[in-house]
Amino acid sequence: MKYKRILLKLSGEALMGQQQYGIDAARLMQYAEEIKAVAATGTQLAVVIGGGNIFRGVQAETFGLDRVQGDYMGMLATVINSMALQSALEKLEVNTRLLSGLTIQQVCEPYIRRRALRHLEKGRVVIFGAGIGSPYFTTDSAASLRAIEIEADVVLKGTRVDGIYSADPEKDPSAVRYPEISFDEVIEKNLNVMDMTAFTLCKENNLPIVVFDMNKTGNLQRLIDGENIGTRVSM
Ligand code: UDP
Repeated sequence: MKYKRILLKLSGEALMGQQQYGIDAARLMQYAEEIKAVAATGTQLAVVIGGGNIFRGVQAETFGLDRVQGDYMGMLATVINSMALQSALEKLEVNTRLLSGLTIQQVCEPYIRRRALRHLEKGRVVIFGAGIGSPYFTTDSAASLRAIEIEADVVLKGTRVDGIYSADPEKDPSAVRYPEISFDEVIEKNLNVMDMTAFTLCKENNLPIVVFDMNKTGNLQRLIDGENIGTRVSM
């Protein structure tokens, strides 16, 4: 087995499917099925979901609202998505625990690292909600930080593109996908993988990132089986 413990980052936006807002039920179930299949092979799995399908902190400013308040709203949006994923997984009889960076004790456990590790060892899928619980961060940063804390082997960033390209493949037909690339090359070429805080955390802690297309059914399993899909960023 290539990876023993992974952290899967899903964007909130991807959860919208074809919709303009909110959660697409079919997409949610697809993600749950993929996670179930991987968990069944014995890979320990933690998940971070974004909140962009509901609210992003930066939007607050466009409404003339306070940015910090907006960030907390964004964090709560990630909790809503996390709860939806938890329910979808439970429907498929997967054991899960939702650990939140903000204390919301009626619906989730507080984030406690040792508890997260224990859940993973017991084969439960651990979902980290509310980012890191602080404003001015993103769920990519939360994914990197939690992955380092739980000593995950890799951060798998599920997106709607199948990797990192030399240029935007939607605009430039000559763009090529990098199967592998180093942290330094990403910086040199000014490629967009994650925000700088998240990226630097991975680089400084030698935590590889794989960017891949999560919307293609079976891709998560293929990646874990070692197939050459997506782009792997490492030292
Ligand atoms: N957020 C935050 N701190 C965190 C994680 C998230 O303040 O540790 C807020 C931030 O406003 C962000 C929003 O939650 O815009 C939703 O997360 P993100 O934009 O990362 O979601 P995605 O783009 O992955 O859907």
